[in-house]
Order: sequence, then C-alpha cells, then structure tokens
Amino acid sequence: KHASKIRLDNVKQSQVREKDKADRATAELVLDNRTRMILLQMINRGFVSEVHGAISTGKEANVYGAVLYPENADEPTQKAIKVYKTAILGFKDRERYITGDHRFKGGVGKGNNRKMIEAWAQKEFRNLNRIYDNGIPCPEPITYKKHVLVMGFLGDKRGYAYPRLRDARLVGDNVEEQWHSLYVKLLGIMRRLYQVCELVHADLSEYNILYHDKELYIIDVSQSVGHDHPRALEFLRMDIKNVGDYFRRQGVDTLQDRTVFNFITA
Ligand code: ADP
Ligand code: MN
Repeated sequence: KHASKIRLDNVKQSQVREKDKADRATAELVLDNRTRMILLQMINRGFVSEVHGAISTGKEANVYGAVLYPENADEPTQKAIKVYKTAILGFKDRERYITGDHRFKGGVGKGNNRKMIEAWAQKEFRNLNRIYDNGIPCPEPITYKKHVLVMGFLGDKRGYAYPRLRDARLVGDNVEEQWHSLYVKLLGIMRRLYQVCELVHADLSEYNILYHDKELYIIDVSQSVGHDHPRALEFLRMDIKNVGDYFRRQGVDTLQDRTVFNFITA
C-alpha cells in the first residue's frame, strides 16, 4: 500500500508563473492545523493519498493538486482540493482583505466568518453535484468537510491544470470558427444550467471556465444561486454581459444580451 502523506513542498503541479512562487510558499506556510487535520482525515478515509502544491492561490481560496492511489492498483487519479480561506489567513493576507476588498468591509475576523466560509464549501459541493449530474462538464464533486472541498482534477496526466478560457490558445486555420462554436456551446451550457440545473452561475467569465480540446468546463460555483433566488436574474444578466463582452473581444459576432437572456430563460 502506498504511504499517505501531505507533501507541501512539491510545487511541480503548478503552472503558475515564477513571480507567484513567493505567494505560493506563503499560502503553504499558512495552512493551519484545522486544515491539516481535515486533509489528514480525507487521506485516512481514502479520498486522496497525497496532497501536493498549490495550483492556484486566490483571494478567497487556494486550490491544491492531490493524487489518489486506488486500493486495486488501478492508475492513480488526480484530484483538486479547494481550501476556502478562513483561519488560514495569515497576517499579511488579512490586511490585504481589509484594505482591498469592499465585500469584506467590516466583515473579516467576525465570529461568524468561519461558518460563512464553511457554507461556501458546502454550497459549491451541492452546486457541483447538480451540474455534474446533469452532464455539464465540470469537476467531479467528491467530498467536502468544513471549508475544504475535494473534486476531480481538470488537467493532463502530467498534473498541469487545463488553462482558463482567458489563457486558452486556439490553434488551427479556423480559429475564428472555433471561437464562434465555443460561444454557441457556452450559451447552450448557460441555458442547461438555468433550465435543467435551475442555477445561475453568478460569477461566470473567462476566468471561471477551463478550456481543453474544444470543450468548456464550468468551475467556481460556490456563489451560484437557484433560478428562483431574488437576485437570480440580476446575476444572470451580469453573466451574460461578461460572456458577451469576452467573446466580442475575440471577434465573435455575438447576439444582443437581451436575446441571450430570452434564449436562456424561455
Ligand atoms: P477562486 O477563483 O475562488 O480562487 P476557482 O474555483 O476559480 O477559485 O479556482 C481557482 C483556479 O484553480 C482556477 O482558475 C483553475 O486554474 C484552478 N482549478 C480550480 N478547480 C480546478 C480543478 N477541479 N481542476 C484543475 N484546476 C482547477
Ligand atoms: Mn475563480
């Protein structure tokens, strides 16, 4: 049986640029004991075997690569672990939150902050389940505990995560056509998300879509809301605007936002 361990020094997984190395190191250092305990529990329960370096360090969450070596000696499978920032906030980070992010005005460090962040992990897990079960490409939801979410890894065998749509490089002699098909594909996904999953992503943009081999994968759904949420249609309009703006910049002859809105909601 493979030894189980949390390896926090190995950042081979990462495709993050050199200049982010210091940030990553910091992020790894500030993994607190609560988070370590949860990761160890997930190892003991067989969800993952090893936790590797950070794939991404963000304002609200870090995403780590992980590997599961199955009992039956099948090929190892890669996982991704999203750790929402709560107690893992270091002093430096905390300061940045307070000065930089209007959403956290007066909210950081309050007693219910931890519960709120745990609710995000739960929400993302539930939303992923709905999206995944309805066949929309997204990470496979595996488990969550407190502020830690385990999901399938979207990336190649070497451990490189698929690029965000923002960073995707389309190649070939029909790049214009490819952008157009991706646009049409995304409108279809948004419609199924709304009609079938009864969800509005609410933070949809080229940053929360991964691209690989002509396929689009929806990620980062902790803030997604039910289509009957009081602000669902407001969020949907925002998503439509972001998507439209982005594809227009890629030269796609996009539909008007209200046409898209009608297509998605009708
Ligand atoms: P946030 O934007 O809140 O930091 P995201 O869920 O968008 O969190 O994840 C941040 C980044 O981590 C993504 O842009 C992507 O590069 C990477 N990532 C997230 N989930 C996965 C996954 N399941 N597989 C591979 N990479 C992932
Ligand atoms: Mn994101």
